[in-house]
Amino acid sequence: MKDFAYLRPRDAQEAVASLARHRPGARFFAGGTTLFDLMKLGIETPATVIDITRIDDLQRIDASARREIRIGALATMSEVAEHAVVQREFPALSESLWKAASQQLRNMATVGGNLLQRTRCAYFRDGLEFPCNKRTPGAGCAAIDGLNRTHAVLGGSSACVATYPGDMAVALVAFDALVDTLSPRGARTVAVRELHRAPGSTPHLETVLADDELIVRIRIPRDAVGRASTYHKIRDRESYAFALTSAAVALRLDGSQVADARIALGGVATRPWRATEAERSLIGGSLTRRTARRAATLAFEGARPLSHNAFKIALGIETVTDALMLAKERT
Ligand SMILES: Cc1cc2nc3c(=O)[nH]c(=O)nc-3n(C[C@H](O)[C@H](O)[C@H](O)COP(=O)(O)OP(=O)(O)OC[C@H]3O[C@@H](n4cnc5c(N)ncnc54)[C@H](O)[C@@H]3O)c2cc1C
Ligand code: SF4
Repeated sequence: MKDFAYLRPRDAQEAVASLARHRPGARFFAGGTTLFDLMKLGIETPATVIDITRIDDLQRIDASARREIRIGALATMSEVAEHAVVQREFPALSESLWKAASQQLRNMATVGGNLLQRTRCAYFRDGLEFPCNKRTPGAGCAAIDGLNRTHAVLGGSSACVATYPGDMAVALVAFDALVDTLSPRGARTVAVRELHRAPGSTPHLETVLADDELIVRIRIPRDAVGRASTYHKIRDRESYAFALTSAAVALRLDGSQVADARIALGGVATRPWRATEAERSLIGGSLTRRTARRAATLAFEGARPLSHNAFKIALGIETVTDALMLAKERT
C-alpha cells in the first residue's frame, strides 16, 4: 500500500472542504471495507484519506417523520438491518443488508460506503495485468471475451459489462429512495435510481457524484408498498457471496388486484435496475404464478448474454417470479 496523508474532520462541512482542498487523489474513509481492500490491491492509491467515522450527525437513523425515514450515511449495515421500523416497513431493505457480506463486515461497513462500493469483476480487481477500461480508460475489457459468468446481461456496453455488486441499492431503487449530498457548492438531492451511471464509453465514471461530494443521508418515502416486500438473492453459496441474481420486490394489493408493484434487479445489470415495464404488466390484474412469470420474463426483455452467463436470464426470471409470490404472501 502506498503512503497517504490522514485527516480527521470534525463535521460534514469540514470533511467536504478537506476533500475539495486535497483533490484529485483524496478519498473519504467510512467503514474502510471497500476502500482499504482496493488500496491493498493497488487499484485505489489516494494521496489523502479523510476519516469521516467520528462525525456523529451522519450516524443517526431517524424514523420520527411521518413521510420518510432518514438514514445517516454512517449508519452501519447491521444497524439499519436490525432497525425495528426498517424491518416492519421495508423488509426488503433489511433482508438486502442481512444477505450481504458477513456479520463482521456489516458491523463495520456503512450504508454510504455500501452505495459506492465498486465492482467485483475479477479483471478489475486481480492485479494490473489484464486490460480494464474501468481501471485504465481506453485499455480494453478482458471480460467481454474472457471469463464472464458473473457479469451483466443488462445495461452493458462494448467498453464494460461489470455488474454493480451491491444488494442494498437494489432495494432502495425499488422504494424510490433519495440521497442527500453536500459539497462546497452546497446541498443537493439525487434519486438512488439516478445515482449509478450506465458504463457507456466511460465505465470509470460510476456515479453522478462529483469527486468532492459527501453522501449525508438516505431518505426513503414511507409508502405502504414497502411492507409487503422481499429481497430474494441467489448466489453460489448461501452466505457470504455476491448475487448471481437478485430481486427486490414490493406489492400493494387492492382486494385481489395489484395496485402498486415494484421490481428491481441485482446481480444481472451494470447498475441497480428497475424493471418498470414488468411492474406495469401487473397493475390492475390479479397476481398468480403465471402473471408473475410473465412480468419476470418482461424484466429480462432486451437482456444480452455473454459467452458464459446466459444462465442468468433463466435464473433471473425464476428469482423475480419467486420474489413476487413471496411478496404476495406478505400483503
Ligand atoms: C468479502 C466481502 C464480501 C462482501 N459481500 C457483499 C455482499 O454480498 N453484498 C453487498 O452489497 N456488499 C458486499 N460487500 C461490500 C461491502 O458491503 C462494502 O465494502 C461496504 O458496504 C462499503 O462500506 P464502507 O463503509 O466500508 O465503505 P468504505 O470502504 O469506507 O468506502 C467505500 C467508498 O465510498 C466512499 N465513501 C464512503 N462513505 C462515503 C460518503 N458518506 N460520501 C461519499 N463517499 C463515501 C469512499 O471514499 C470509498 O470510495 C462485501 C465486501 C467484502 C470485503
Ligand atoms: S467488465 Fe468492466 S470492470 Fe471488468 S474488465 Fe471489463 S471494463 Fe474492466
